[in-house]
Amino acid sequence: MPPTIDVPELTRFLDGTYAEARALVRTNLAEHAEVLEQAETLSRAEYRERVKELLVTMAATGQTGMGFPEKYGGGGDIGASIASFETLAYGDLSVLVKVGVQFGLFGGAILQLGTERHHDAYLADLITGRLMGCFAMTETGHGSNVQALGTTATYDPVTDEFVVTTPDEVSGKDYIGNAAMHADVAVVFAQLEVGGTSHGVHALVVPLRRDGELLPGVRVEDDGLKMGLNGVDNGRLWFDHVRVPRADLLDRFATVSEDGVYESPIDNPDRRFFTMLGTLVQGRVCVGGAGINAAKVALTIATKYAVRRRQFKAASPDTEQLLLDYGLHQRRLFPLLARTYALHFAQEVVSAQLHAVFSGTVDDEQTRRQLESRAAGTKALGTWHATRTIQECREACGGAGYLAVNRFAALKADTDVFTTFEGDNHVLLQLVAKGLLTDYSSDFEHLDQLGVVRFVAGMALETVIERTSAHKLLERIKDVLPGGSDDWDQEAGLLDPNYQLAMLRFREEHMLSGVARRLKRGIDDGMNPGEVFSRVQDHVIGAARAHVERLVLEAFVDKVSSLPDGDLRAALTLLCNLHALATIEQDRAWFMEHGRLTVQRSKTISREVNDLCLAVRPLAVDLVDAFAVPPELLRSPDLLGCAP
Ligand SMILES: Cc1cc2nc3c(=O)[nH]c(=O)nc-3n(C[C@H](O)[C@H](O)[C@H](O)COP(=O)(O)OP(=O)(O)OC[C@H]3O[C@@H](n4cnc5c(N)ncnc54)[C@H](O)[C@@H]3O)c2cc1C
Repeated sequence: MPPTIDVPELTRFLDGTYAEARALVRTNLAEHAEVLEQAETLSRAEYRERVKELLVTMAATGQTGMGFPEKYGGGGDIGASIASFETLAYGDLSVLVKVGVQFGLFGGAILQLGTERHHDAYLADLITGRLMGCFAMTETGHGSNVQALGTTATYDPVTDEFVVTTPDEVSGKDYIGNAAMHADVAVVFAQLEVGGTSHGVHALVVPLRRDGELLPGVRVEDDGLKMGLNGVDNGRLWFDHVRVPRADLLDRFATVSEDGVYESPIDNPDRRFFTMLGTLVQGRVCVGGAGINAAKVALTIATKYAVRRRQFKAASPDTEQLLLDYGLHQRRLFPLLARTYALHFAQEVVSAQLHAVFSGTVDDEQTRRQLESRAAGTKALGTWHATRTIQECREACGGAGYLAVNRFAALKADTDVFTTFEGDNHVLLQLVAKGLLTDYSSDFEHLDQLGVVRFVAGMALETVIERTSAHKLLERIKDVLPGGSDDWDQEAGLLDPNYQLAMLRFREEHMLSGVARRLKRGIDDGMNPGEVFSRVQDHVIGAARAHVERLVLEAFVDKVSSLPDGDLRAALTLLCNLHALATIEQDRAWFMEHGRLTVQRSKTISREVNDLCLAVRPLAVDLVDAFAVPPELLRSPDLLGCAP
């Protein structure tokens, strides 16, 4: 007998601590569901206004200000603000991204990089949306390499002001959300120059518009039509000697005195820069969660369509078969469904860590580094998962999936860029690898890529390998599996989570030590460190990915084991097994190459994945219903067989 799923119970389990915050967002989204259609029918200019209007409307319900201090009208709960943002991804994604820009990027920069005077000046107004702002970091010339930005902010002691300047065309700010139309002010990231010395990138508040009119010295250009997210007004910004008072430097990490003395509690400029950026980690956590939730919308539509749509007579001579009863359809959708659950729980872990660190419950340097790494890794996997899942679900709905009313057009176009903004995924995975290679020590946080290469090359290989936590974990796991230290992978049951985790830990540990070995060998052979890194980069990304995959599976296994015996645990165990074995199966060539999977066992894993898919089949609709995407947001009247 398959387990019976109590859908509301599973929804409560998924919603977790922040069920109330998520419920508020669902209500707000359902109430304004018409924006999904308006995105297709309004002109671009009207759509942008509509999105802004909705942002202000939602702000009035408290939904978007949950992470700000109560003293300014916020909710004082960071975890709730992440849950609320993630849930917003069920609806129109321009609304989501506009909210992210205003409250996450702009508001987050004021909160995290500013001090009390900036909080007093801006927070209350920005929380309500009375003051609109943007976060102007990226330039046409530099996106990932933020330390190389060209914009300058030069202190003028005569007038006690900073002079903000765009020195050349490619130093113009680009893709900046809210810049083209709505932002009154910008948090601008610029090279700070004081008394002829450059102190690296810092942030300042620069007014852009008053009563909708651009201020002198500010030039703006609309980024124009984008692949998606056209309800957000992205634009370019150039500054021609724009003067701002000294007090508008966001000075939590560095101050400039009236007579032009620069001071910072963090001496090393690279360390200071990474510390500043580290405070903005919430944006990454939010985008990762949004990607995972957008995948839930796609899976809900595709799964529910597949239990209505019939094609070809197969099992029965009389009736055509439901799509979801085809093994292939199950193979296409269920591993993605299982992975969505896995990523949901991994996201829950990273959100809880962020909440703990930023609420001050746990706050040490190493925990911060681990959080930054985990946020980067979960964001990368979550957003790539969204892109892949939405495409698969679109195809699973055939031609109907292509019609805009069925949501996939917007889901695909709007989520595509999640893999790029808030940090390009490949660049983020390099950050993850750096944390692994340096064991998250704050002593090395300032190292750039070449610094990491030199650091690893200077250590004994055994030391590098010893440092990785994966190695230690693997040792422990081998103890609990049959087969001892050599044959643990041959003897253990495929459905034993210890076996599944040991496989992922083995891969992580092996890849990471392989990276360290190759970096060392390159340097020992006299190669230039940059060249060494470049040659090893695919391996670096592989190791980082393997690490995050391990964290994701651990989160799922932990969550399942926290449940009492019963139907819910049985259902989630099925999904967890499916996720684990599908993950191993996907990389079976690697496991075979490295002697951890025989041909026989590899085939058994594929058979097991098929069996698990079959076992998930009777639960599938309940499993997607538990995501509790409000029906108004699914649209797809013909696919789902109900009027919207
Ligand atoms: C819709 C949208 C909204 C945005 N909103 C904002 C905003 O509000 N504020 C803001 O400041 N920015 C914003 N951005 C900018 C965004 O954050 C950047 O686009 C992003 O950081 C990537 O930078 P880039 O475009 O310069 O790409 P690049 O850094 O040039 O990267 C291009 C490619 O090169 C690869 N690459 C880069 N470095 C390396 C390396 N060392 N090794 C190997 N490969 C590498 C990357 O993986 C990527 O595939 C937005 C962008 C978009 C599209």
